Amino acid sequence: MLISGYKVEVELARGWVRENCIKRALIQAPPGLRGIANKLVEELSSSLEEALLHGGGCWGGCDLAIAHARAVGADGIIHLGHARFLDEDPMPCVYLECRRADPEPLIRALEGNMKSLEGFERIGLGATVQWLDHIDLLKRLLGGHGIRARTSPPTSPLRYEGQVLGCAYQPLLKLSREVDGYLVIGSRFHGLGLGLQTEKPIFFLDPELGAMGALGAESEKLLKSRYGYIEAARGARDLGIIVSIKPGQFRMRCAMRLKKLLERAGRKAEILIMDDVDMEMLRNSGFEAFINTACPRLSIEDQERVELPILLPAEALIMLGEARWEEVIKSPKYLAMEV
Ligand code: SF4
Repeated sequence: MLISGYKVEVELARGWVRENCIKRALIQAPPGLRGIANKLVEELSSSLEEALLHGGGCWGGCDLAIAHARAVGADGIIHLGHARFLDEDPMPCVYLECRRADPEPLIRALEGNMKSLEGFERIGLGATVQWLDHIDLLKRLLGGHGIRARTSPPTSPLRYEGQVLGCAYQPLLKLSREVDGYLVIGSRFHGLGLGLQTEKPIFFLDPELGAMGALGAESEKLLKSRYGYIEAARGARDLGIIVSIKPGQFRMRCAMRLKKLLERAGRKAEILIMDDVDMEMLRNSGFEAFINTACPRLSIEDQERVELPILLPAEALIMLGEARWEEVIKSPKYLAMEV
């Protein structure tokens, strides 16, 4: 069914309700798709005894509202706008990905900005799940301009060839010897995550905004600022290690290892358990710096809201002298959420 320009697999949801004998479902959607969630409640009214709308954050497939669903006695979750993230869900979940039906904004944005890709012959191509249905079309369009676009098979948590997440680009990074640069379809946010992990030129294309651009300068600026936060954290004696209970972000083992490393280095470290990571709470927590084991992009996108360093695990290792900056930047180690 087409709702607001998105393909919404209502039949898939109905089948899932039947097969799993779901009576009460919790419906989760990211902010831009809440209208679709409302429409879905109407569509499923005859299949479900009760459909409850989740009002909290929903930033990725990692962010399943399991605790909320259990608290309200829901039998399962209908999760909109993202592909499956976990290999196994802790309770019945169905993912309605909401892919974009019309490729026109994508075609317009690409054709209007092809000049940016002049001189490139082989490019690694990635897209958010919303635009994945058009990836072959995109390859053909780029081919028409003499550019060979490559994708490669997905590795967990990615589910589809060509798919990227703000924290997952492994298939593209594997192509690094075979391409001259990368084009990421989605937003500047999605391109920038790759920019931290490779030396190759990165371009983003945002079909909604009709924008396309290079991210080299922005990646450099960001890395410079990250280095500043690592330096600032060197003087911190009292650190908080952030652990989120969101199922796809829960990294207790990583947090415990970091705590040990920090204590061995003579620092005091406490583990902070959170759901959504609340920046206001961090600012007022009394810690001098944080290490983030939840969504890696919090350290990038939300850093300035807190001012105190919110280091990634790899950055914490650099601060402790356990890893070298030069080895970590522009490599897949940068966003690796493990130590
Ligand atoms: S961990 Fe962060 S970047 Fe990765 S899918 Fe979840 S919200 Fe997106």
